[in-house]
Amino acid sequence: MRITFIIPSYNEEANVAPFFDAATEAFARQSDFDGFELLFIDDGSTDGTLAAIRELVPPAQVDVRAVSFSRNFGKEAGMYAGLQHATGDIQAIIDADLQQPPRVAFEMAHQLICHPEYDCVAAYQEQRKQGAVHNALARRFYKTLKSSSGMDVVADASDFRAFRRNVADALLQMPEYFRFSKGLFSWVGFRTLAWPYEVQERNAGSSSWSTRKLASYALDGILSFSVKPLRAATMAGLLLSLASIIYLIVVLVQTLAFGVDVPGYATIVCLILLMGGIQLLVLGIIGEYLGRAYIQGKMRPIYLVREEYEKRGSDES
Ligand code: UDP
Ligand code: MG
Repeated sequence: MRITFIIPSYNEEANVAPFFDAATEAFARQSDFDGFELLFIDDGSTDGTLAAIRELVPPAQVDVRAVSFSRNFGKEAGMYAGLQHATGDIQAIIDADLQQPPRVAFEMAHQLICHPEYDCVAAYQEQRKQGAVHNALARRFYKTLKSSSGMDVVADASDFRAFRRNVADALLQMPEYFRFSKGLFSWVGFRTLAWPYEVQERNAGSSSWSTRKLASYALDGILSFSVKPLRAATMAGLLLSLASIIYLIVVLVQTLAFGVDVPGYATIVCLILLMGGIQLLVLGIIGEYLGRAYIQGKMRPIYLVREEYEKRGSDES
């Protein structure tokens, strides 16, 4: 049995070697696998990530491979490339920054071997370590995603997962441009075991997710898996139309009964502004979907490879 670690790496120069050491050490201590492939996806790093990967000296049974992108395409694109290039019977997606211990990835893979009825093991954080606002927003997001898409997304699950080939093949059948892995994993189904783990501190460097990036990722998540916002827009339009018709009748009756009344300027201005705002909002929602359909329609590749690298472990060591 062979296991592949898919490691999306963006400017992880300082983490490559520590990660490699931790991973190979964990591999040496287990007995489920006799082959280990470390597949780094260098996501257009601007530092020496690829150079650091080239310096790694894999021991016997271990292969180091790298797929280097032509520019930064994002972690989602990295994971997709990883799925396409991985050769292991069991594959695990794991961050390069050691926040997710390689030892735990082997534990998760071990679950797949012990429990043939499961095809995927998803790690979830026992306690979120970010601030209270972040946690509240995250919880809100998972609730919204669940209620709008009807999918059962493992809350607090990261992209830290181990799975069999069949899951990888299923994911590869979805070459959509706006990728949201947590949703894709739950869309493809398969029996998934939730596995608790404790998130570690980042080994070196800093997280590349700004609040803005996270917010737009969350929006991608909802828009990729649900058309409910469009329906909400229709409902809002319907309700407003109904209210307008009622108000129209009231105004008509008033005018017929009491003649033309000049005051009412404020009401009119407020209504015009309100209606204008709602119309723009609804147009915006439609636009979000249209824009995504437009970009998807171009069928551009999800990532572009600049170079590939491979170093096999020497058998005599
Ligand atoms: N990453 C990537 N491309 C990007 C951003 C991040 O491949 O554009 C990788 C990064 O190198 C790391 C993983 O995705 O291995 C998680 O990123 P990060 O640690 O910045 O996120 P966090 O742990 O804060 O969620
Ligand atoms: Mg991290």
